[in-house]
Amino acid sequence: MTYAPPSGKRWPVAILGATGAVGQTFIRLLVNHPWFEVAEVVASERSEGKSYAEAARWIEGEMPESVAGMIVKSTDASRISSPIAFSALDSSVAGDVERAFATAGKFVLSNAKNFRMDADVPLVIPEVNADHLQLLDRQRKERGWKGAIVTNANCAATVAAVALAPLEEEFGIEKLFLTTMQAVSGAGYPGVPSLDILGNVIPYIADEEPKLEREMKKLLGKYSSGAVELAPMRVSSHTNRVAVEHGHTVCITASFKNRVTAEMALHALRSWRGHESTWSLPSSPERPLVVTDESNRPQPRRDVNAGKGMTVTVGRVRPDPILDIRMVAMGHNTIRGAAGGSVLNAELLAVTGRLDKA
Ligand code: NAP
Repeated sequence: MTYAPPSGKRWPVAILGATGAVGQTFIRLLVNHPWFEVAEVVASERSEGKSYAEAARWIEGEMPESVAGMIVKSTDASRISSPIAFSALDSSVAGDVERAFATAGKFVLSNAKNFRMDADVPLVIPEVNADHLQLLDRQRKERGWKGAIVTNANCAATVAAVALAPLEEEFGIEKLFLTTMQAVSGAGYPGVPSLDILGNVIPYIADEEPKLEREMKKLLGKYSSGAVELAPMRVSSHTNRVAVEHGHTVCITASFKNRVTAEMALHALRSWRGHESTWSLPSSPERPLVVTDESNRPQPRRDVNAGKGMTVTVGRVRPDPILDIRMVAMGHNTIRGAAGGSVLNAELLAVTGRLDKA
């Protein structure tokens, strides 16, 4: 890939919510990125004015030296000079802050739920629905923003959508049952108290089931004439928090418009590479989806880092006695399901020329 920003330099970017679990993942992924350079870190009033090393309780590995001494800024968009903002803000503040950033001319790549289902806001997994970025023309026209907001999906919805995109494309999903086993890092930091989760399963994650059910339909929907037509499937979900560090597992059972055998489903899953425009982006894995033949996989401990956390692993593809097909999918929630997905969205914006004005 020879693409680079117009100046030949890296784009300066701000990380909003830089001190949290997803914010830290952004920093790890961007520290040696060929196109983007972390220039500003932003968090709450609790962290503002402190050095990043003081404000962030770093969770994994070593904190990169290049950010340790940065002073954490407030969410006031007028004090941020970077044209691009990766947002890992808590949803209680993401709505107002991200709107202010887009109004101020920034490109916002958001992980929060606030704008995901708005009709003029792209909800993007590049391999699945790169064409949904066309909603940005409508967004700019209708909102009058000089900047823009592009969102990525709920972490469990991302894993399920990557696994189901080939089957939706080939056979058309009619009904979908999803049961998740979601890692503790999905609850942010410090997240779920250890005494609540160790040796335990919690069969409720606030607001997770509605998010999963509605976002699947938009992610797998079709773009046409300035709108995304929601995929006409019926979706039912159970979401559970389990004592796993990283990696959301989703048990999937589906029926289709046309008859589908396990062999047909396996063929579709194995041959899918995702949208062509993503094949050589810096953060694209060699394959967005891999199928394992092992009867006891995928497992978070063994498979979560496939494709540096950007590959979703699917296994146990078999017939279902009630619907048509059942299978298990697993992917990294803070990488593919959050920060890595956002970075890939920004790379797609770059190669489609949409960041040239940034
Ligand atoms: P987290 O660990 O709780 O981090 C939240 C971040 O938001 C921190 O940097 C925090 O800063 C900042 N923040 C909180 N209140 C604020 C305020 N009033 N003003 C400014 N900043 C504020 O959460 P997370 O897991 O990283 O999640 C971040 C976002 O990504 C959420 O919207 C979440 O739903 C979404 N998401 C998470 C995952 C995942 O796997 N974890 C996956 C997909 C999407 P301080 O440190 O200063 O408090």
